[in-house]
Amino acid sequence: MSDQVRVRFAPSPTGLLHIGGLRTALYNYLFAKHHGGVFVLRIEDTDQNRYVDGAEQDIIQSLQWAGLPFDEGPGTQGDFGPYRQSERSDLYKKYASELLDKGLAYYAFDTPEELEAMRESLQSDSNPNPRYDANTRLKMRNSLTLPASEVEALLKDNVPHVIRLKVNESDVVRFDDMIRGKVSFSGSEIDDQILLKSDGLPTYHLANVVDDHLMKISHVIRGEEWLSSAPKHILLYQYLGWESPKMAHLPLIMSPSGGKLSKRKAEQEGIPVNVRDYISGDYEAEAVVNFLAFLGWSPGDDRELFTLDEMISEFSLERVSKSGAIFNYKKLMWYNEHYLRASDSKEIVPRIMPFLQEEGFDADFDFAVEVVRLLKERVSLPVEIIKQGRFFFEAPKAYDEKSVKKAWKAETPDFVKHYTEKVSGLAEKEWEASKLKSALEETIAVFEVGFGKLMLPLRVAVTGVGAGPDLFESMALLGKEEVLKRIDSALAALGE
Ligand code: GLU
Repeated sequence: MSDQVRVRFAPSPTGLLHIGGLRTALYNYLFAKHHGGVFVLRIEDTDQNRYVDGAEQDIIQSLQWAGLPFDEGPGTQGDFGPYRQSERSDLYKKYASELLDKGLAYYAFDTPEELEAMRESLQSDSNPNPRYDANTRLKMRNSLTLPASEVEALLKDNVPHVIRLKVNESDVVRFDDMIRGKVSFSGSEIDDQILLKSDGLPTYHLANVVDDHLMKISHVIRGEEWLSSAPKHILLYQYLGWESPKMAHLPLIMSPSGGKLSKRKAEQEGIPVNVRDYISGDYEAEAVVNFLAFLGWSPGDDRELFTLDEMISEFSLERVSKSGAIFNYKKLMWYNEHYLRASDSKEIVPRIMPFLQEEGFDADFDFAVEVVRLLKERVSLPVEIIKQGRFFFEAPKAYDEKSVKKAWKAETPDFVKHYTEKVSGLAEKEWEASKLKSALEETIAVFEVGFGKLMLPLRVAVTGVGAGPDLFESMALLGKEEVLKRIDSALAALGE
């Protein structure tokens, strides 16, 4: 193994990329960049039954969106390609044969019915889940039990078969996981896993090990759900005479109500689970990345806001925790608000334009910039700007009943009319927030009432609801003619 750090993100294209997958990619990326190493994307597409069209594209777009470009992967010119396992089948066959030749693997011809019968006959209370292993292999139909001539004939006739690893039950697999510490498994716990399937394609285990070796992967960083596969991989490295990469299994991502954050759980708890949902929901990529970095890792003090460069310089596997990391959606929204507020309003406008167009609003760019400026402090996601700021694009069609009840009293029309008379005197270019506010202060002084007695009715008249962004700034932006028209309509609708 060379000294260079080379890590890989190795998703199977079986559907949209899960948010937990993006965390795995991020930790690999941070680790690689921290060590000046290489981040490889490898597509593990050997299971044709689970292959989903478009999934690879979704993975690549998700990494792009998150700002985690890979150095080597499909479409790049790395020295270790191709990076799709489906394009590497010959390699796996070669190593499976090598294991056969060394007597460390064997052909198995058992039909699904025969395997089922074996399980049924051996099942007992002490052995609820019988496996194909040292205890059973000699009772099965394979190249260890059949005469060589028969094996040869079966192979010649293309009778469906697999190649299995011959696990020595007295082997003990020990390794030092960089996160979990010392891990050990006995050979008797490991089954004679299939290496090559009857369709000639490798299983995950064989392909994963062969590729990690050939691609000179120095560290395998992946989710805890793969920990139980690690001993099988380590055995394969041993049997092939290769040095195993270092291993690091990341803590599970847990749902706030407990248990692993499954798709179903996430749905129940209103947590978007695919990276695609975050892209289409227009979340801030930096917020998602910053949040994910903290889902299992921490810098060891109370800092929470990190740029990608800061994460790269501070990241270490030693600071990744063993225990499950709870996906706190509120915290994610806190990050999102932070990054949204820090973004330039001009850059947010093109992102909300499609939503505006969908609503049939034909907004002027500069006007939309001002709307964003007024509202980005009040929302968690850009799309909420449209919801809260609807009144900027169309006059209220109705007035929120509760707010009207609270705001519109018998004496209200007098205050409102007094106010409109005052502001009608302002010239177009004097129509600005400070003057609109002074006019309100003068009016309430005349009637000797509090701020809210006029502010709330005005807000309801102009926006249709009882809460929203700064009213004077909003009125200034809407313009004199529009505001006076809206106040007139409200007076007519709610009573003069
Ligand atoms: N193809 C596996 C997955 O879908 C890769 C696991 C690993 O990183 O070894 O996650």
